[in-house]
Amino acid sequence: MIPFSPPRIDQAIIDAVTDTLLSGWITTGPKTKKFEKDITAYTDAKITACFNSATAGMELMLRWYGIGIGDEVILPAYTYCATANVVLHCGATPVMVDTLPDGFNLDPQKVRQAVSERTKAIVPVDIAGTPCDYDGLWAILNDAKVKALFHPKTEAQQKLGRILLMADSAHGFGARYKGKMLGSIADVTAFSFHAVKNLTTAEGGAVCLNLPENFDHDEIYKTLTIMSLHGQSKDALAKTQKGAWRYDVLFPGYKCNMTDIQAAIGLVELGRYNSETTPRRRELCALYQRGLEKFDWAILPEFSFDDDTESSYHLYQLRIAGATESQRDAIIQKIADSDIAVNVHFLPLPMLTAYRNLGYMMSDYPNAQKQYENEISLPLFYNLKDVEVVEVVNAVSNAVAEVLKLEHAQKPLR
Ligand SMILES: *Cc1c(COP(=O)(O)O)cnc(C)c1O
Repeated sequence: MIPFSPPRIDQAIIDAVTDTLLSGWITTGPKTKKFEKDITAYTDAKITACFNSATAGMELMLRWYGIGIGDEVILPAYTYCATANVVLHCGATPVMVDTLPDGFNLDPQKVRQAVSERTKAIVPVDIAGTPCDYDGLWAILNDAKVKALFHPKTEAQQKLGRILLMADSAHGFGARYKGKMLGSIADVTAFSFHAVKNLTTAEGGAVCLNLPENFDHDEIYKTLTIMSLHGQSKDALAKTQKGAWRYDVLFPGYKCNMTDIQAAIGLVELGRYNSETTPRRRELCALYQRGLEKFDWAILPEFSFDDDTESSYHLYQLRIAGATESQRDAIIQKIADSDIAVNVHFLPLPMLTAYRNLGYMMSDYPNAQKQYENEISLPLFYNLKDVEVVEVVNAVSNAVAEVLKLEHAQKPLR
């Protein structure tokens, strides 16, 4: 059985967790603070706040920016539901846009067309860890006509004076856009450390802030941590100071802080990210490329680009040229029959009941439909062996040959 993306749990992780359990401090504390500082150094962000998920971090940021009823947030139709759910939780309206004609990321031109006087934020998603066209998005945000449409309602909105750029970079930790690390490009970048992501803390997430200089990042960090702990003026660690038991609740906050057990895992993962995790994922993707490039039906994903842009290698998104949605599903069934776990990233949101019920329709997103209907994500994880990549390639090519009735599909067609 070849699984899809199991976490790398080895002795180093077990030791770090055990040490934390035995340390007497298991909730938010010194390890979480160190993890935040190390992420800031790694990404070149101005400051980082960790939470129990990327979803929680994104929702807190939208609320910090004062997004609510009557506001619109532009996001791709092609994403995981978290991107839209945080907007809906705030009472605002997700305005979904289509992907590029030949890629999984959202199309800046479609974003420009979707901007209205209600737009308060754009939430691009770095699908598979491939950076979005950030230059294209910044050009829209800084466009005088777009800025003139912006109607600030809160202090933060007044201060920024434009639409907020908050990247859902759940897949993108470690990726680079034109020589800069993700985390230092958008105003806000949310990373996920969920169990299947490249860097995991079991569950967890971080928000990297990179707002203009007129914002006090330390102050925002304080606000976010208080928001993540019921609005309580002192966290558990501060209350351990001698005689410092008294606290206040400043507003009815949320409960989504990261624990030191999670951060302990994250610190091990971050320490070996550039030396072990990314090199191995890069190598595995290269092996897939070499195994699949000979097949005419294989539309291969891209990972690095001429302008010093590189993916985080989160997903290997293969597309099967000419396959219909039902043929793709049949191919997946055959691959599963050979005990290999694959996935589809993603079911575009308008295909799901929750969003269909809100009136979103797949017919408005033809590019997303095209990207989705023949996509298969192949197993990709640190401990995947080279021989297993060969097994996967063989299973995929056999399944494609059977389903598409290709003759000699195993032989190079080119
Ligand atoms: C995993 C994922 C999220 C959610 O991350 P959590 O840490 O589980 O909240 C959000 N967006 C995308 C695109 C994801 O894949």
